[in-house]
Amino acid sequence: AVQVRELSKWFGNFQVLNRIDLDISVGEKVVICGPSGSGKSTLIRCINQLEPFESGRLHVHGVEMSDARKNVQMVKQQIGMVFQHFNLFPHLSVMENCVLGPMTVRGLSRRQAEDIADHYLARVRISEQAFKYPGQLSGGQQQRVAIARALCMEPKILLFDEPTSALDPEMVKEILDTMTDLARDGITMICVTHEMGFARQVADRVIFMDKGQIVEVNRPDVFFKLQSNERTRQFLANLV
Ligand code: ATP
Ligand code: MG
Repeated sequence: AVQVRELSKWFGNFQVLNRIDLDISVGEKVVICGPSGSGKSTLIRCINQLEPFESGRLHVHGVEMSDARKNVQMVKQQIGMVFQHFNLFPHLSVMENCVLGPMTVRGLSRRQAEDIADHYLARVRISEQAFKYPGQLSGGQQQRVAIARALCMEPKILLFDEPTSALDPEMVKEILDTMTDLARDGITMICVTHEMGFARQVADRVIFMDKGQIVEVNRPDVFFKLQSNERTRQFLANLV
C-alpha cells in the first residue's frame, strides 16, 4: 500500500528524517513509536502529503507521490488521518464535519454524504451526537467523530498520530477499542502511539524510530521480547 524509499527531510539545517525505507502492504497494521522529536509525526505527514520532503521516493498504491503537491487530491481520497487534537471544525456540527469532505472532494450529493455519515457515525457509536457541535462533546467523543469523519472519505489507508495522548485516561480505552474494531476490516493502518497494549494486540509490525531513523522493525511478539538495539530497550524500559 505504501512504499517509502530513502526518504530524507530537513527543516533548515536540521535533518528530521534520515533515509527512511518502509514497505507497508495492503491491510497491514503498523505501530510507530519512539522518543519525542524522533520524526514520527513528520514521517506520517510526509506519507499524507502534508509535508514536502527533499529526497527519496514515496508510492501510495503504486502512484508516485514524490513530486509533491500534484497528487494531493488522490491522497485526500485514499488516506485518512486522525490527529492528537481531533482537528474538528468547531463551527460545524458533527454531521457537517462528516459530510464536508465527501461533498467537496468526492463530489457526492448531500443525501449520499449523509447516508455515509450515518453509517460511520453508527460504526463508532456516536449517532446520537450527530447534531451537536464539537465543543459540546467529550474528548473521547470528539475523537470518535474525527475517526468517523476520516472514514466518510472511505480511505484505503488510515493514519493515526497519537490519537489517545490528549485524552483523559478513562477515554483512552474507548478510542483504542474503536481502533481495534476498525483493524478487523481490511483497512491499512499506520498508528503513531505509545499504547503498547494496542501494539501487542493489533499490530502486524512495530517500528521504533529515533533521531529521524527507523532503528528497529519487528512483529510485536519479537519486538517486545528481544530488542536488537539498545535505544529501543531503553525506550521500552522507560515506558513502564
Ligand atoms: P512527538 O513524540 O513529540 O510528537 P515526533 O517524533 O512526532 O515527536 P516530529 O513532530 O516529527 O517528532 O518532529 C521531529 C523534529 O522536527 C523535532 O525536533 C521538531 O522540533 C522538528 N520539527 C517538527 N516540525 C517542524 C517545523 N515545522 N519546523 C521546524 N522543525 C520542526
Ligand atoms: Mg508527533
